[in-house]
Amino acid sequence: MPVSFPFKNIYATLPSQCFEPVQPTPVSEPELIKFNESLANTLNIEITDATESELAAIFSGNAVPDNAMPLAMAYSGHQFGNLNPQLGDGRAILLGDLYDTSSQLRDVQLKGAGRTPFSRGGDGRSPLGPALREYILCEAMYALGIPTTRALALVRSGETVIRQQREPGAVFTRVAASHIRVGTFQYFALRRDHDALRALADHVINRHYPEVKKTSEESGKKYLNLFKKITENQAKLIAKWMNLGFIHGVMNTDNMTVSGETIDYGPCAFIDSFNRKKVFSSIDQQGRYAYINQPAIGQWNLTRLAEAMLPLFMMDTESAHSSSDGVEAAAQKQTAEKQAIEDATQVLNDYAHIHQRAWETGMAAKLGFSEVQEEDRQRFESLTDLLDETRVDFTLFFRRLNTCAASEGDLSQVLDLLNAPEARSSASLLQRLKEWIQDWQGALAERESLSSAQQRMNQSNPAIIPRNHQVQRAISAAESGDYEVFEKLLSAVTRPYEDNPEHQEFEQPPEPAEQVLRTFC
Ligand code: AMP
Ligand code: MG
Ligand code: MG
Repeated sequence: MPVSFPFKNIYATLPSQCFEPVQPTPVSEPELIKFNESLANTLNIEITDATESELAAIFSGNAVPDNAMPLAMAYSGHQFGNLNPQLGDGRAILLGDLYDTSSQLRDVQLKGAGRTPFSRGGDGRSPLGPALREYILCEAMYALGIPTTRALALVRSGETVIRQQREPGAVFTRVAASHIRVGTFQYFALRRDHDALRALADHVINRHYPEVKKTSEESGKKYLNLFKKITENQAKLIAKWMNLGFIHGVMNTDNMTVSGETIDYGPCAFIDSFNRKKVFSSIDQQGRYAYINQPAIGQWNLTRLAEAMLPLFMMDTESAHSSSDGVEAAAQKQTAEKQAIEDATQVLNDYAHIHQRAWETGMAAKLGFSEVQEEDRQRFESLTDLLDETRVDFTLFFRRLNTCAASEGDLSQVLDLLNAPEARSSASLLQRLKEWIQDWQGALAERESLSSAQQRMNQSNPAIIPRNHQVQRAISAAESGDYEVFEKLLSAVTRPYEDNPEHQEFEQPPEPAEQVLRTFC
């Protein structure tokens, strides 16, 4: 084989209920669109003189590496609040897991590689458009410093898939710290399969949170500590989304990892013109997953995780004091349950504080501050109100704020944003914005040196995000066989904090006619 993967297939050693072995279904004419060689290198994947067609065969699922153990993972999930007990990988196939160059176990998964035992009515395939969107978005997120799954390859399948219309098909290769979701825990909790639940939790501890083993030797609450870690990571992840204007779009419990990586780029999008209640997803009619709802939905999802992990929390307490007497054991069980619920509730309450602190730390950096002070809370809130009322471009606003960081700084570039077609402006809004800026300039002058504040701002406020209309342009061109637009956009969004004159077209918000109002998965 010209490409060799050091697969360990550790997930496949979990109880057999955790997955179904399945082979990819070959596609007719695989054509390589993109291969992420630098990512492959960090995964210890060895490539010797591989031709494009050999790579296309591997990353379409047509040629399965000898040491792969392809499987579809089982999971459940709350979709838009409704529990679906049986989801699972319906169009994704895990080729295997392997250790990367920093000794972290990573999954390599083909998305769109054919039907699996979990496909239900689906065709097991992916259209090119959403696969390309995922490629751009996840690589942009990585470059922005947001924990995320990565893109290893994109192959056109040569086949047609039918969605709203006929579309070219594709197979996307995704790399993740793991694909274990809140819904994976729900799957076993629903089936009262506590052995699998425990095996899964132990796997997650070994894989993502080995430090839990140490802390729990002292407290004895191993699984509660695991839950705490997952909660902290999600609180911080969602804060980063909020700081950069990212809307996930489908925060179902099956689309929330336990590793703290962003996963499942469906109808996601970055905000252009700011609006707290912004929704892009065509399927989110109630706005459940609107920008502003994301932190609370994170907590809701984690509450579902706590419910699923409850039997594990009780194992924590029961193992500390277990009686052989029947009556006493029943009483102990009740006490353990009460304790477990109390503990989990505390963790869920802490989530809100951890999220808020992480968001504030992010906002402080965006505004050039090295730390959050008491007076900043009001400053952040009133700025968010102003952005919402003026509907200015979120990304450009923060990037340009740099130009008026000095006390005598020039406000014109920022105030210009109020003239954009989608912006709203009035004399009083303009006045409030000017006052906010002057107040901020004063605080900055008092608390920070100008150069370090500006440097911090430039590293926290990207010049380039993958704007929807640009992603749409790249998709349309790719659908007709032109991948240049995709390549150019990818190279711009993977250098988001640079001021590169060549990338200027990607900094601009959409013209009214270019605006993408709805996104699809
Ligand atoms: P998603 O909206 O991508 O998170 O998917 C929700 C569920 O539907 C998961 O179980 C997917 O595996 C499944 N699914 C989505 N698209 C397809 C498809 N084309 N064929 C089979 N299953 C699918
Ligand atoms: Mg999903
Ligand atoms: Mg999806």
